[in-house]
Amino acid sequence: MDFTLTDDQLAYQQTARQFAKKELKPNAAQWDRDSHFPVDVIKKTGELGFLGLYTNPHYDGLGLPRLDSAIVFEELAWGDTAVAAYISIHNMVTWMIGEYAKDEVRAEIVPKLVSGELLASYCLTEPNAGSDAGSLTTKAVKQDGEDYYLLSGEKTFISGAGSTDILVVMARTGKAGPKGVSAFVVDAHSEGISYGKNEHKMGWKAQPTRTIHFKDVKVPARNLLGSEGEGFKFAMKGLDGGRINIGICAVGTAQAALETALNYVQERKQFGSAIAKLQSVQFKLADMLTQTIAARQMLYLAANKVDNKHNDATTYCAMAKRLATDLSFAVANEALQLHGGYGYLNEYPLERHVRDLRVHQILEGTNEIMRVIVSRSMMRDGALDSLR
Ligand SMILES: Cc1cc2nc3c(=O)[nH]c(=O)nc-3n(C[C@H](O)[C@H](O)[C@H](O)COP(=O)(O)OP(=O)(O)OC[C@H]3O[C@@H](n4cnc5c(N)ncnc54)[C@H](O)[C@@H]3O)c2cc1C
Repeated sequence: MDFTLTDDQLAYQQTARQFAKKELKPNAAQWDRDSHFPVDVIKKTGELGFLGLYTNPHYDGLGLPRLDSAIVFEELAWGDTAVAAYISIHNMVTWMIGEYAKDEVRAEIVPKLVSGELLASYCLTEPNAGSDAGSLTTKAVKQDGEDYYLLSGEKTFISGAGSTDILVVMARTGKAGPKGVSAFVVDAHSEGISYGKNEHKMGWKAQPTRTIHFKDVKVPARNLLGSEGEGFKFAMKGLDGGRINIGICAVGTAQAALETALNYVQERKQFGSAIAKLQSVQFKLADMLTQTIAARQMLYLAANKVDNKHNDATTYCAMAKRLATDLSFAVANEALQLHGGYGYLNEYPLERHVRDLRVHQILEGTNEIMRVIVSRSMMRDGALDSLR
């Protein structure tokens, strides 16, 4: 078992770090203050291949393993959590379309998503179907003798909505429950689609979150992903990778917070010397580093399970997302504490890091739902032998 990054992985890490240093970090505070979604900068990441990191190369994606992709997301999040997290969602949707759409649809759309000409949103959550997403009620009805569906319903909390061009929408085409759900590629500018206000959020201010209303939206039948009834399965497959991405974006932010705190405690003097001389401060820093590395390694392990199509990949993703987002939030919060009152001011990045990281414990499945997934898979006969 070799934990050393390969030359290729180091090169991607370096490229992403340079981009984050130049384009993201210097602007992150301002974008947060102005609730500005930097579409132009996001599109620039397309030139580096970062909008189709694990998308099939046949459709212009880089086709990287999830682990290598995670390395890139971490660096981007080190520069700006909210922007990196949006890029990760775009990657998830791009991958889903590249994987499951009809050939003619993916050939037409995926290269444009990879280049950044088009941006994407993932539409699963509804006002009355959050954690229980399988109970969603948005409907897609195939018209007799026609080659299109009519889509009606409401999706809420949609990242990027209003600024994106392509939606992957999970909608009911059949009976109640997950097996009656199908997934569609939908043009975000279609007639019958309207958008709610940009939600006022605690964090992730540099990307919009909106409700989307669908009223008899015509969706060509060829835009169905796979077959009817497979949509929930595809949505969950997308989320396995999505959870690694959201987790590693949290780690990138924790790393940034740790670096800031390490510098600060060596400069800040109280009681006649730098607070870094206090053993309690040193112990805090030691724990923060340990937690950041533990979170990263757990995500790498989950990414490796997805890359190797391991039977328990979903469970590893759930464990890793839960652990990494909880630890990263704790690290950022400690970094704020080490700054005393200054940590609470928005002149310093810590309060933004804490605000941004809070949602990582909630979305792409809450951390309680992650525990539901893990505990359910533990109960199988022989599970503890394979989960080790
Ligand atoms: C900023 C932001 C961006 C988002 N972006 C997207 C997006 O792009 N696309 C999208 O589809 N969705 C998105 N979401 C939605 C997100 O995935 C949901 O908010 C999340 O899945 C939780 O659903 P809910 O808010 O309805 O909470 P609920 O499901 O109502 O949960 C409320 C509480 O009950 C707990 N709970 C529920 N069921 C159980 C259970 N069985 N066991 C234990 N506890 C339980 C939850 O953990 C939570 O603490 C986003 C959300 C936010 C805040």
